[in-house]
Amino acid sequence: MSLMKAPENTPVWVDTSRCKACDICVARCPAGVLAMRPDPHSILGAMISVEAPELCIGCNDCELDCPDFAIYVADRSEYKFAKLTDAAKERAEAIKKNNYMTLSA
Ligand code: SF4
Ligand code: SF4
Repeated sequence: MSLMKAPENTPVWVDTSRCKACDICVARCPAGVLAMRPDPHSILGAMISVEAPELCIGCNDCELDCPDFAIYVADRSEYKFAKLTDAAKERAEAIKKNNYMTLSA
């Protein structure tokens, strides 16, 4: 459940005004959906980015673990999430090894 209105046909979205770029959601995501992107306007020099929404499995881990209530996941009744594949797991590992930064520059 989120306080923010869900955008249509979107599995996961971010209120960037609340995000402090802590990386926690990227570390939690098992499917390589999330990564940080360089952002000179952010205090930490990076901002969360939903890089591969089509891979989201709707596990809710990002929303549950975000300390700032900045990331939201659609309800299962409103969005048909993907299944977790080996390719998505490998993508998640690659992002973690890349210091949580995006794989596509
Ligand atoms: S866990 Fe929350 S505050 Fe941290 S990067 Fe993700 S959305 Fe931003
Ligand atoms: S709901 Fe799960 S799979 Fe989707 S972005 Fe959040 S942590 Fe990743």
